[in-house]
Amino acid sequence: MSDNTGSEFFPDLTPSPDTSAPACGYIEAEPGTSGTEPCGQNPAWHIAWKLASPTGGAQCAFVCDGHMRAVSDSYVYADRHKVGPNCGMPGTVWWRSWMGKAECVVAADEAGAQ
Ligand SMILES: [Zn+2]
Ligand SMILES: [Zn+2]
Repeated sequence: MSDNTGSEFFPDLTPSPDTSAPACGYIEAEPGTSGTEPCGQNPAWHIAWKLASPTGGAQCAFVCDGHMRAVSDSYVYADRHKVGPNCGMPGTVWWRSWMGKAECVVAADEAGAQ
């Protein structure tokens, strides 16, 4: 959002804490350009490219409303849900009910489900 027209540019190396707000990570890759700047907008959707399996964890990403359309047009994802309060928080798992509604829930060991 800032206009860096100065002769010197210092990248922002401040590490983001785990509790930082998630941002749309969609990168516009237009032919002939080196667009590698992620969108960075407030995300509306949490998508899973791959759900967790016995051999590996889920691969998730955040996208804004506009880029959700671009993703649906061009890519295949395993699952998605609207961004909720638990999305992006450490210790959450991708959970899907039998009705097909997905969300991020905090993995509670002490809950002792089943
Ligand atoms: Zn976006
Ligand atoms: Zn989520």
